[in-house]
Amino acid sequence: MDAIISRIIDRDPDQKEFHQALHEVLASVKPVLDRNFEYRQLAVLDRITEPERVIMFRVPWMDDDGQVHVNRGFRVGMNSALGPYKGGLRFHASVNLGIIKFLAFEQVFKNSLTTLAMGGGKGGSDFDPKGKSDNEVMRFCQSFMAELYRHIGPNTDVPAGDIGVGAREIGYLFGMYKKLKNEFTGVLTGKGLGWGGSLIRPEATGYGAVYFAAEMLQTRRESIENKRCLVSGSGNVAQFTTEKILQLGGKVLTLSDSSGYIFDEQGIDQHKLAYVKQLKNIRRGRISEYAMQYPEAVHVPVDPSLGYNPLWEHGADCAFPCATQNEINGVDAVHLAKGGVQLICEGANMPTTPEAVDIFHDHTLLYAPGKAANAGGVAVSGLEMAQNSMRLSWPRKEVDDRLKQIMKSIHRTCLDAADEYGTPGNYMAGANIAGFVKVVNAMLDQGLV
Ligand code: NDP
Repeated sequence: MDAIISRIIDRDPDQKEFHQALHEVLASVKPVLDRNFEYRQLAVLDRITEPERVIMFRVPWMDDDGQVHVNRGFRVGMNSALGPYKGGLRFHASVNLGIIKFLAFEQVFKNSLTTLAMGGGKGGSDFDPKGKSDNEVMRFCQSFMAELYRHIGPNTDVPAGDIGVGAREIGYLFGMYKKLKNEFTGVLTGKGLGWGGSLIRPEATGYGAVYFAAEMLQTRRESIENKRCLVSGSGNVAQFTTEKILQLGGKVLTLSDSSGYIFDEQGIDQHKLAYVKQLKNIRRGRISEYAMQYPEAVHVPVDPSLGYNPLWEHGADCAFPCATQNEINGVDAVHLAKGGVQLICEGANMPTTPEAVDIFHDHTLLYAPGKAANAGGVAVSGLEMAQNSMRLSWPRKEVDDRLKQIMKSIHRTCLDAADEYGTPGNYMAGANIAGFVKVVNAMLDQGLV
C-alpha cells in the first residue's frame, strides 16, 4: 500500500488534495485487503486510484468589455464500474487537476454508498463566477460545453453542480448541450423544475446531511431539537442544512463565506434564512451584509493567515462544515472539542484535515465524513436521472421520503461495515470500506478493462 501511494505521489507530486483523499481511503481499506487475496492479486488498488479518463481543455470566452480570457476546463471519469460517471462541476479560482481528482475519487465511494447505479466523476474550471455578469457567465458556460458535450451523455457521464455551479449555470450548460447534440436528455442534473429537474434536488445535500446527523444522534438517544449548531458556508449546502436544522427544532448560530462569518446568538430563523437565500442566490452579495440587516449579529472577517477559523471557537453542540475542503484543521478541532461539540457532520467534501479527524476520534465525538453525510445530493441526482428516463416527475414527498430512506440506509451501512472490520462507531472507516467493497467487486466481475 505504501509503495502504491509513493508511486502516485512521485508521478503527480503537486496533487496534494488527491494524495490526502488517497491516504484516508487506503488506510481504512487495509483490513479488507488483508482478508482478501484476490483483491491484492488483481491489483485493485493500482486500478481504482488511476482515473479511467482525464479530459483537460481550453475554455476561451469574452467579457462584457470585449476582452478575451482563457480558462482551463476539466472532467475526470474516475470509475464506471457501477454506472455512468456521475459528479458535479466546480467553478472556482482554486480548481486544478489535483482537486478534481480528489473530488472524483471521493465521488466513487459516495455514489457506491447510495446503492444507485452511478460511477464516479467530477469536473470544473478555474473560472470564478463571482463578480461576473449573467452574460459573462453564460458565454463561459457555452464555451465550456462546446468542448465537454462530446465526452458526456445520459448513459456515459452526467455532470451536476458544485461550488460556483448552481441553477443558473446548469441552465446555460444544458441549453448549449441541447443545441449541439440536437437532443433533450437528462445529461445534467440539478435542472430547473419546469424542464426535467427533480423536486428536492436543491435541498437534497443539506437535508440529507441533517437526516444523517439525526441518525447519528439517535445512537446516543439524542435528537437535533434544541441543539446549538455551527454551520459554515452560505451556498446551496449551507442554506438547506440550516433549513432542515430549523425544521427539526435546532438553532443555527453561524454562516460564512470566503471573507468571514456571521455569528447570531439569537439564531438564524426561517425569516433570516429567506434573507440569506435572496442575498446569496439572487443578489449574489456577501454574508457580511447579514450583520447590517440584523444588528443583533456580528460579522467577523477571517484572515486565512491566522491559521485557524474563529467560527469553530463558539460553544455549540453540533458542527456542519458546508463550505470547502480542509476548512477545519487540528487547531479548529481542538476548539470544537473544547466548545462542547458532540457531533461533526460534513456537508462539504473533505472539509476536515486528517489531524482534525484524529482529534475527533480521540475525543469520541460523532464524526461523519462527507462521502456518507453529503451523499443525499447525488442520491437525488440519481432519482432525477430515473425520472428523466421515464419522463415522469415524482411528488415532493415521494422524493423526500426516498432521500430520508437512503440516508438512513447509508448510516446503517457505515456502522455495519465499521463493526465487521473491528472499528465500531467509526463512520469514516465504515463509509470507505462499504463503498470500496461494492466498487471493487463490480470491477472484478467486469474483468480487466
Ligand atoms: P456554493 O458555491 O453554493 O457555496 C459554497 C460556499 O462555500 C460559499 O459560501 C463560498 O463562499 C464558500 N467557500 C468556497 N470556497 C471557500 C474557501 N476557500 N474558503 C471559505 N469559504 C469558501 O457550493 P455548494 O454549497 O454547492 O458546495 C459546498 C460544499 O459542499 C463543497 O465542498 C461541495 O463540494 C460540497 N457538496 C455539494 C453538493 C451539492 O449538491 N451542491 C453535493 C455534495 C457535496 P464564497 O461565496 O465567498 O466563495
